[in-house]
Amino acid sequence: MLFERARQVFPGGVNSPARALKHLPSPLVAKAASGPYLYTDRGRLVDYCMAFGAIILGHAHPRVKRAVEEQLERGWIYALLTEQEVEFAEAIRRHMPSVEKMRIVNTGTEATMNAIRLARGYTKRDVIIKFDGNFHGSHDYVLVKAGSGAATWGIPTSAGVPQDVVKLTVVAPYNDVDAFLKAVREVGDRLAAVIAEPVAGNYGLIIPDAEFLKALREETKRVGALLIFDEVITGFRLGLGGAQGRFGIRPDLTTLGKVVGGGFPIGIFGGRAEVMDLIAPSGPVYNAGTYNAHPVSVAAGLAVLKELETGEPYRIADEAAGRLAKGIEDIAGRLGFDVVVKQISSMFQFYFKKGDVKTPQDVRESNEKMYLKLHEIALRHGVYLTPSQFEVNFTSATHTREVVEETLAALEKAFQQLKT
Ligand code: PLP
Repeated sequence: MLFERARQVFPGGVNSPARALKHLPSPLVAKAASGPYLYTDRGRLVDYCMAFGAIILGHAHPRVKRAVEEQLERGWIYALLTEQEVEFAEAIRRHMPSVEKMRIVNTGTEATMNAIRLARGYTKRDVIIKFDGNFHGSHDYVLVKAGSGAATWGIPTSAGVPQDVVKLTVVAPYNDVDAFLKAVREVGDRLAAVIAEPVAGNYGLIIPDAEFLKALREETKRVGALLIFDEVITGFRLGLGGAQGRFGIRPDLTTLGKVVGGGFPIGIFGGRAEVMDLIAPSGPVYNAGTYNAHPVSVAAGLAVLKELETGEPYRIADEAAGRLAKGIEDIAGRLGFDVVVKQISSMFQFYFKKGDVKTPQDVRESNEKMYLKLHEIALRHGVYLTPSQFEVNFTSATHTREVVEETLAALEKAFQQLKT
């Protein structure tokens, strides 16, 4: 069996923990992907993970494929400036005006790591505040969890992260203005930056109150710290302007990834020109990378942006997520399950619980076991929901009405079986 071989060569048999699908006897093995479908060792599945949000046009989109093929014809790496990356950056800035200047790197992890380093370099301060349940990638500054207090000086979430590093990261509750203000007071004049997912997509889906985001903006400004919006998921998914456009908030720095690379490795950090000019070679904050602004990722990203600019992909993907959210609510209600469904644009998630979901604590109170059981049953009916209660389901421009109907019919059967 492939998993046995994989276990001999990869820790846990996979190359990223979420792929382990530990609630199943063995991980899914992908063979191909096209449109809304994944072709796997368990057959054809309607995909709602969409590479954890990296894909918005659908898998193997012909225009993206063509752009990549054209790039390959011209060679695929030069480690020099290209016209294409300038065009790409200009398009990003046009849609996201807070990103006046940017640096194109390879992953969201690199983007947040560099944005934090830059904020520290700019403010000459060292402490950052992050939020419980927000995820910013797998580097030491942010692999930090909350302790038991309201706002806590960090505890590493990973072995190997030095206590001395995470003691510079304070963790505050998400979507709680009072607790945030208290954390800012506690940190005082050492606060370099506040980093937040403006819509949280790594602890299920948590849509914060507009007042919370407003408080982040006003308070950071007041104390001379920078506000970093981590839009690795939301950038170009919640519309061309991202979450910042939607909520009308201008952060100092923004991080992007996923959608903006069309499924190829990418990360971007950018923001106020005056701050970005501190990045090497124009300033003293170091960032460099052999693969920075990789021509293949940039070609794919540019092709994605051109499609998104027509508005059509958003129309289809957002409508699909809306219909699925409503459909799941209906099915669960009819069959007597207490389920909360949350949706924004082409992101949705549902929780087995009563009441509402506004904070990470609400997510923790939902019945994760039920979600995983449903996930396993849905797979047998040809639907690959996002593989954890703590992730988000994503739709794409290929999740047409027919695909949504097919999914809801499968989920109806899955919920029925869950009951028995
Ligand atoms: N920031 C957010 C909000 C993310 O969701 C992720 C990845 O899921 C990252 C950062 C890290 O991005 P990458 O996996 O490209 O390193």
